[in-house]
Amino acid sequence: MKYYILFGPPGAGKGTQAKQIVEKYNYLHLSTGDLLRHEMAEGTELGKKAAELINRGDLVPDEVVEGMIRNKIAANRDVKGFLFDGFPRTIAQAEVLDAMLPEFGGKVDAVLSLTLPDELVYERILHRAMIEGRKDDTDRATIEHRISTYHSKTEPLISYYKDKGNYREIEGNDTIEHVFTAICKILDE
Ligand code: ADP
Repeated sequence: MKYYILFGPPGAGKGTQAKQIVEKYNYLHLSTGDLLRHEMAEGTELGKKAAELINRGDLVPDEVVEGMIRNKIAANRDVKGFLFDGFPRTIAQAEVLDAMLPEFGGKVDAVLSLTLPDELVYERILHRAMIEGRKDDTDRATIEHRISTYHSKTEPLISYYKDKGNYREIEGNDTIEHVFTAICKILDE
């Protein structure tokens, strides 16, 4: 069973690429953002707590997303592989994942990292706001806070995975098709 991480700043195109990847390779797409938005839509206790944090651009606590991921992995033992999207987002989450996967007989096979400069992150999120209507995409201060949270908490994962030797970078400032082709090339190796 394969375990891939789709990595990158908010708005880098992870969700768009994830859809195409899982269609072609039959992996299970696990987006912590989608899982959290599902909880919010259902109005669960977890969803209510998460909404507050998400709508101001903060991360939800590590234990919350770690629990969600573990449950999904444990419940899906018959898939070909997993594509994590938006997880891990902190060093602590990455360490938990590294400790968890061997329990399931696996490891992180590769980190597919989509790069995008901050100005474009901003533009893409504002554009997506018009299409998807996500509350965390509409407010300038929230977007700025998400970008700075990305730099302080998530970006350190790049050197974490570079040290492990499974980090692969893909230019995100390109067409959807070109980015997808670059990703497939790595997955087909
Ligand atoms: P984006 O790619 O635009 O950041 P996501 O759907 O991945 O959107 O995430 C939306 C929000 O959900 C994040 O800003 C954060 O508050 C929360 N979230 C998602 N994944 C995680 C995670 N792994 N750890 C903590 N918070 C998360």
